[in-house]
Amino acid sequence: MGNSSSVIAQLEEERSTLMGDLELAEDTRKARYIKESEIEIAEELPSDLDIQNVILDHDGTISTLREGWEIVMHQVMMEVICGSNLDKLTTDEYNLISKKCEKFIDDTTGIQTIIQMQGLRELVLEEGLVPKEKVKTAAEYKAIYLDRLMVSVNDRIKRFERGERNIYDFTIQGATELLKALRDRGLILYLASGTDEENVVFEANALGYGDAFNGGIRGSKGNEIGDAKKIVIDRIIDEGNCVGNNLMVIGDGPVEIIEGRKVGALCIGVASDEIRRHGINYSKRTQG
Ligand SMILES: [Mg+2]
Repeated sequence: MGNSSSVIAQLEEERSTLMGDLELAEDTRKARYIKESEIEIAEELPSDLDIQNVILDHDGTISTLREGWEIVMHQVMMEVICGSNLDKLTTDEYNLISKKCEKFIDDTTGIQTIIQMQGLRELVLEEGLVPKEKVKTAAEYKAIYLDRLMVSVNDRIKRFERGERNIYDFTIQGATELLKALRDRGLILYLASGTDEENVVFEANALGYGDAFNGGIRGSKGNEIGDAKKIVIDRIIDEGNCVGNNLMVIGDGPVEIIEGRKVGALCIGVASDEIRRHGINYSKRTQG
């Protein structure tokens, strides 16, 4: 039993070999900040920086359109694990599975959706409430989850378009100003997301900053199995001749930070609080 934890264990191992100072990540007492700011210095800046390219992550770094995905994922997990038994379970049975889902989401936050869905498939099999022949593939579960998530994303975009919400309701504070400041310095900006490319393009344009990305907006293509975000970042690094000291990576997820570190880029981890849309989210700080 406990196969879903094998997915997590494997990820933890990769994370710990490629991340920076883990002691610093786990212990905020060791943090050093730029004076009068919440900007933390994890490592000294290299002296030979010649930044020309900037790769920015989208969700949680610029956009908060997908904030609240945990709630959507929890609903979908409960439905697919319980199947037609969803309404027949006792309160205790229901709560026990609900707690497992909450813990699973907590443990897998920050990793790519397809791996989360592999874990979900393992949970469906472990719980055994759905007949084996009805258990779907991770890619199928991912499609169900993303369809559901898009309902909330599209609703938010419609509210924005109708003027009921403004740009600051759906972006991290200062993010759009940062894009402008980077462009004013003549840098090439790439937007990188593990989300399907057409959705990323649509969301960035709907919020009005899509054209800031003169290097392009890149997302996942088709149903690539594997780490969509990693594939996208590696593609940008290859095509844009981004190497070491000419590249800066800005993101709130471990994948972009790990891939950036692999090529020696200057990496800026954004431990963003997507609900307040300013300040630090300490659980993200530990991940990145
Ligand atoms: Mg992100």
